[in-house]
Amino acid sequence: MTEFSSGTLTGTNLHLSFGSLHVLRGIDLHVEHGTTASLIGPSGSGKSTLLRVLNRLIEPDTGDIALDGKSVLTENPDRLRQRIGMVFQQFNLFPHKTVADNVSLALHKLRKMPKDQARAKALEHLDMVGLKHKADARPGNLSGGQQQRVAIARALAMEPEVMFFDEATSALDPELVKGVLALMADLATSGMTMVVVTHEMGFSRNVSDSVTFMDGGVVVETGPPEQIFTDPQTPRLRGFLSDIL
Ligand code: ADP
Ligand code: MG
Repeated sequence: MTEFSSGTLTGTNLHLSFGSLHVLRGIDLHVEHGTTASLIGPSGSGKSTLLRVLNRLIEPDTGDIALDGKSVLTENPDRLRQRIGMVFQQFNLFPHKTVADNVSLALHKLRKMPKDQARAKALEHLDMVGLKHKADARPGNLSGGQQQRVAIARALAMEPEVMFFDEATSALDPELVKGVLALMADLATSGMTMVVVTHEMGFSRNVSDSVTFMDGGVVVETGPPEQIFTDPQTPRLRGFLSDIL
């Protein structure tokens, strides 16, 4: 795959409240370029909100976000969201457009790429995820796993510096999870900078370079997978792991 050289992402002391609900309570997160960070923690701990704040779908109340050491808070948020690709649990594909059109749409509309060029690039990325032969199908005729791979191709076609995955395999039938995780692992190995919210502890442990455990809007522990999974330092992480493993 492509060579990646940028994409170091740093969130510093991020706070966010929804009304009186203080959801992010001073989050620090540092993801070195070319590495994969996984984000684990119980439901409601603020993981999805953190991703949305980091790409400024939601503005933090306070704190800073930097890419390659430069604050992005003054940057146009639309431009920032082209630098950070996002893949959701629900694939969010347009059902009435073909697979290729789903992938090429943003290239054409946002990147102003001529249509034939955008299609060529879409086909190239569909090929990368093993779905070039589905280019002219509608998303509804693909399996959930294939649809998620299309969503990943769509994000990659924008050539982001960082990729976010928010429970990308949680909506899939069990037999389809493996293919998507394998694609994510390939991407991680290729040197993409990734932040992955996941319940897949196998992925977190075997693929990611660092693991961050969140609970109640704070980072409770962060460290290399070996440490997090075999030598948790806090009762909260020990409790979380014994509940899910
Ligand atoms: P996680 O992804 O770890 O399950 P979330 O980031 O989705 O957690 O949610 C963290 C907390 O913020 C939860 O209490 C949730 O109900 C609340 N929350 C999330 N989004 C909103 C919103 N748009 N408005 C109000 N509360 C929200
Ligand atoms: Mg979530």
